[in-house]
Amino acid sequence: MSRIEGVTAAAYRVPTDQPEGDGTLAWDATTLVVATVRAEGMTGTGWTYAPAAAAGFIGDVLAEVVTGADALAIPAIWASMIRRVRNAGRPGVAGYAVSAVDVALWDLKARLLGTSLAGLFGMARERVPLYGSGGFTTYDDDATVAQLTHWVHELGIGRIKIKIGESSGARPDRDLHRIALARRVIGGDAELYVDVNGGYTAKQAVRQAEQMREHDVRWFEEPVSSDDLAGLRLVRGQVTADVAAGEYGSDVAYFTRMCQAEAVDCLQADATRCGGYTGWFAACAVAAGHNLQVSAHCAPNLHLPAAAATPNLRHIEWFHDHQRIEAELFDGAADPTGGLAGPVTGEPGHGLTLRADAARPYRTA
Ligand SMILES: [Mg+2]
Repeated sequence: MSRIEGVTAAAYRVPTDQPEGDGTLAWDATTLVVATVRAEGMTGTGWTYAPAAAAGFIGDVLAEVVTGADALAIPAIWASMIRRVRNAGRPGVAGYAVSAVDVALWDLKARLLGTSLAGLFGMARERVPLYGSGGFTTYDDDATVAQLTHWVHELGIGRIKIKIGESSGARPDRDLHRIALARRVIGGDAELYVDVNGGYTAKQAVRQAEQMREHDVRWFEEPVSSDDLAGLRLVRGQVTADVAAGEYGSDVAYFTRMCQAEAVDCLQADATRCGGYTGWFAACAVAAGHNLQVSAHCAPNLHLPAAAATPNLRHIEWFHDHQRIEAELFDGAADPTGGLAGPVTGEPGHGLTLRADAARPYRTA
């Protein structure tokens, strides 16, 4: 048995390179919370994008049930963490903290076994399709053109997504202008996706979708709030684009409700929110049981080994904000050139190592 000797957590607040916003939120910095677990002189690393409070939660609440446990018995530790957060409430900070620790545990287990995480999970494919994700509503046309040109024409990524639903649906004409702009920039061959972040009402989403048809939009993400399962289903029944949602899901019951409501054509899940890699594979099983594919939401490098191991995976969201942070703060970040990326296979664990010197200036907790 390999006893877990210690758990630590730290938070890093990283400013965006430009102001970022979507249909219902705007931000100028993103906080990365990193968890580490240690056993037999080895360290596993996991992370989530969450308020810095998640770092405190790991130290104050989760460390107590993780320390001393058998590092190889992840399901037992995971169940202990879930029990421990009952009164704190699983969605939000507590669930994000559990997710970061679960990822650290899997990274540690692979290291203890002397294998890559991709090798430990096994691979359904060696390289995973991805799509460029950004196109923030706060960008002017020049910034949008520059970003989409880089992805499609310089990196050869054949799928991109922009944010629409600006000001909670109050700027529908600007949304359509930006969709037309995106199609002009990427050309006729690349797939065009949009994410409303819940900014439209259901019928407004249907009307906008009619206007979007000439631009061949294939992916209509969160056209209404992902809490409005009836609204998602209504939109889904009226549009040709695939309706997607699920990024806020924190447990299998959430994903089950969404699938049972026939609310989505493709389920989104985020391992940094839904319980780490353990929760990811559970969400993917729920989707498979409803004959749906899964798309990984954000944290692209963290998702790579799990996505490669998932038979019903559609793609990974290569989110501009998170890719920038992961490439700057970690060694081992993947290269999205060509629209495919593979998990690290020649290094133990997930292969990403926090660069302490690069991260230190951003540390807040
Ligand atoms: Mg989204």
